[in-house]
Amino acid sequence: MKSLSLKRLVVLIFVIVPLTAWFLVKPVRVVAPGLVGISCPQENVCVDDMTRYQEAISLYIEGTAFVASKLMPLRSTPKVIFCSTITCAETFGLGARSAVTVARFGTVVGPRAWKNYYVRHEMIHVLQGEQIGVIPLLLKPSWFVEGMAYSLSEDPRDTLAEPFETDRKLFRSWYQAIGKDFVWSAAKEL
Ligand SMILES: [Zn+2]
Repeated sequence: MKSLSLKRLVVLIFVIVPLTAWFLVKPVRVVAPGLVGISCPQENVCVDDMTRYQEAISLYIEGTAFVASKLMPLRSTPKVIFCSTITCAETFGLGARSAVTVARFGTVVGPRAWKNYYVRHEMIHVLQGEQIGVIPLLLKPSWFVEGMAYSLSEDPRDTLAEPFETDRKLFRSWYQAIGKDFVWSAAKEL
């Protein structure tokens, strides 16, 4: 088992297996939200409450523009499902999370996450997937993946719950040394 490092084994057991199991059930709904009463008037922006559609569009536009100026433009136009109710969020298996990005399938924003910094955070995860690859991204340290999303989204919270506060601090000092232009090439070495 020389080629299977402990880190890879851990990722396989704790990340890939549950993720695959989850993929088999819930994301079918992300791919086909129409099946569960979600409307997507524009293919990539979906809502469970049409009265909040303009709000969702504004958050989507702000998020993509922000990420483009902060890092680089997304290659894709990611699908984002904005849930205004817990019932909707549960349908997509959000659980205790505020929002989640499921590889390239799409992002689900829960009722607590209709805020610009949450949407930017998820868009940063989409960009990470594009630049690093969805599977290689699973092998990157949390201080890079989550630290980048919390830091560069300009999340206004002074202190985040751990481990995210430490992730953000570690990312900030790394990013100060690396800079925007070399972030993806430097990330390959992590
Ligand atoms: Zn995150």
